[in-house]
Amino acid sequence: MEFESVIGLEVHAQLSTQSKIFCGCSTAFGAAPNTHVCPICLGMPGVLPVLNRKVVEYALRMALATNCQIAANSRFARKNYFYPDLPKGYQISQYELPVAQHGYIDIEVENEVKRIGITRIHMEEDAGKLLHDTDQSFSRVDLNRTGVPLIEIVSEPDIRSAEAAGAYLRKLRSILRYLEICDGNMEEGSFRCDANVSIRPKGVSEFGTRTELKNLNSFKHVEKAILYEIHRQKEIVMEGGSIVQETLLWNPDKGQTTSMRSKEEAHDYRYFPDPDLLPLTIDDAWVHEIRQNLPELPDAKRERFIGAYGLPSYDAEVLTTSRDLADYFEACIADYPNPKQASNWIMGQLLALLNAEGKDIRQSPVPPLALAALLKLVDAGVISGKIAKTVFDEMAKTGKLPDEIVQEKGLMQVSDTSELEQMVQNVIDKHPKEVSDYRGGKEKVIGFFVGQIMKETRGKANPQMVNDILKRQLGK
Ligand code: ADP
Ligand code: MG
Ligand code: ZN
Repeated sequence: MEFESVIGLEVHAQLSTQSKIFCGCSTAFGAAPNTHVCPICLGMPGVLPVLNRKVVEYALRMALATNCQIAANSRFARKNYFYPDLPKGYQISQYELPVAQHGYIDIEVENEVKRIGITRIHMEEDAGKLLHDTDQSFSRVDLNRTGVPLIEIVSEPDIRSAEAAGAYLRKLRSILRYLEICDGNMEEGSFRCDANVSIRPKGVSEFGTRTELKNLNSFKHVEKAILYEIHRQKEIVMEGGSIVQETLLWNPDKGQTTSMRSKEEAHDYRYFPDPDLLPLTIDDAWVHEIRQNLPELPDAKRERFIGAYGLPSYDAEVLTTSRDLADYFEACIADYPNPKQASNWIMGQLLALLNAEGKDIRQSPVPPLALAALLKLVDAGVISGKIAKTVFDEMAKTGKLPDEIVQEKGLMQVSDTSELEQMVQNVIDKHPKEVSDYRGGKEKVIGFFVGQIMKETRGKANPQMVNDILKRQLGK
C-alpha cells in the first residue's frame, strides 16, 4: 500500500522586544538565574499584567507578512496547567480569539512552489526554565524566561514531507529575521517547533490519527524525527495496528522517539478569558501604518534579484536567505556592476569562508567594497581569476585591500606579449615530444604547455594570451 504523510507544524518564536510581555523586566538572554524577575512575572497574588504594545506590533508584522487576516478584536485567555516552571499555575495565551488567522506562505519543494496555510498566529508568554543537575536529587528553576513574549504560528496540515517541513521552517525563520522581530536561533530556543505527523493511504481524503513530536531543536532533528515517525507509523499500519494519538519526545542521541504522554485535549486546560486583561482592539490605522513599514520580504526580494539583476533563481534564492546577505550583495554590485560574477564569488569563496569560520555575513572579514575592488582587478586583467582566490584569502586573513596585497606580493598578471612569447618558446624548445604530438593532431597537449607556463609564473600568466601565443607558435 502506498502512503502519504500529513504534517502540521506549531512554531513558537520568541519576540526580540526589550521587555517582557506583561511587565517591565528585561528579556536579555544569559543573565544570572532569577535576576530578571518581578512580582508580575513571578506570579505573585494580586498583581496585574499590562500588555506590552511592542509585542502586539511585532505579532502584527508577522501576521501581515504571512498574509493573515487580523482580528480587530481579540482576547487573552488563561491556559491552566501545573508545572514548576509556571509559577502562576496558568499561562496567559490566546485561545478562541487569536490576533490573526487564515494566512499562508509559499515554499519551494522539488522545484515546485507549494502554498502552506497558516491557521493562526497568537501571542503568549513563555514559561521559566528547569535546570536539571545530574548530581543532585532535585532540579532548580530559573524564571528569567517567564513572561518573555512568544508568538505561536500554527500551520494547516498542508505539509507532505520532511523536506517540505524543513523548507517551511526555513522560510518562516527567514521572514521573522527580515522583520527583525525574532533572532531565529533554534539551538538557543528562540525558535522552537513541534511537529504533528500522520499518514493515510494515497488517495484517501480523511486524515489519519496524528502524533505530536517535541524536543526538535535543530532543523536537522526536525527532518530526521519526522522521517523516523512516518516510518514508525507505516510499520504499525502495515502490521494491522492502529496509531495512538500521543505526544512523543525525540531522542537525538538514539535517533528515536519515545512516548511522553497521551495527547492532552484543549478542554484539559480549562481555557477561559483572562479577567485581568482588557479585550485587545486593533484599529485599521495602526495596521495600515505597520503594513506601510514592512521591509521587502524574501519572496519579493528574490523576484527582484532575478528581474533586475538577471540572476538565476538559484542564486537569487541563496542571496536572499538573509537580509544581511542580500544587502552585502547589493553593496558589492553598487560598485562592481556585474551581478552574476559578484554572486559567484559571494556564494562560492565568501560563503565557504564564513562557513569554515562559523561566521555570520555581518562579521565578514572581507567587506563588500573590498570584494568589489578585487573583482575589478580581475576584469581589468591586473590579476587572473585564479590568483584572485589567493588574494581573497589574504584579504580575509589580514584585512588588507586587494591592490595592496597584489603590489606587496608581486601578483600582477604577466600580460606582456614579448615576455610571454619568450616563455612559450622556452617551453616548446624543452619538450620536442609533446610538440610533435600536438602537430600530429593531439590538440589536447596544449593543456600540458599551459600548465608548464603557469607553473613557471606561479599562476600569474594571462591564460588567454598564453593560449593564443601557444597556438600561434605551435602552429608554425
Ligand atoms: P494542539 O494545540 O492540540 O496540538 P491544534 O489544533 O492547534 O492542536 O493543531 C496542531 C497542529 O496539528 C496543526 O499544525 C495542524 O495542522 C496539525 N494537525 C491536525 N491534524 C493533523 C493530522 N491528522 N495529521 C497531521 N497534522 C495534523
Ligand atoms: Mg500541539
Ligand atoms: Zn517581571
